[in-house]
Amino acid sequence: MNVIEELAQAQGFDFMGTCSAKELVARPEVRSMCAAGKCQVYGRSWACPPACGELEDFQKQMNAFDRCLVVQTVAQMEDDFDVEAMEEAGELQKRRVLDLVEAIDEAGLSAETMTLSAGTCTLCAECTYPDEACRFPGKRLVSMEAAGLVVSEVCTQVGIPYNHGPQTIAYSGCVLY
Ligand code: SF4
Repeated sequence: MNVIEELAQAQGFDFMGTCSAKELVARPEVRSMCAAGKCQVYGRSWACPPACGELEDFQKQMNAFDRCLVVQTVAQMEDDFDVEAMEEAGELQKRRVLDLVEAIDEAGLSAETMTLSAGTCTLCAECTYPDEACRFPGKRLVSMEAAGLVVSEVCTQVGIPYNHGPQTIAYSGCVLY
């Protein structure tokens, strides 16, 4: 197992899988969904479009790596409207990904990796965009969607489920190395 995969496994993710980073495709239609305001953070964060960067640049950056490791947190919900379980799982995924980034940094490997999160950056209670500079430019993470990735497609590419069945919730991020 690669050292990045070992570091990820130590964070306790529920599912992990890898594929070639050369397979990743940044799709304009995903950016169109961002612009349509589906998640309501378009143009409201340094970590989201349009501030996070051009799709073409993400495509080049992602394909320059060898491997893509998807890391996933999955939780059971009491019913389809179990917001508490959704929020808890989302927070757990964010914490695991941030801990993984820290572990990669401590291993001296951060310059050789690129990490994409699930959802927008929530390091600050309120993002400074666009009035002031980002408070933590070295720590903020762009989401898989903001990089143009179709998360369900990438999950299929790495061989893990995107949807784990009725009354489950799954959050996915990835590390390129
Ligand atoms: S670190 Fe703070 S200022 Fe920077 S993108 Fe995240 S929320 Fe916004």
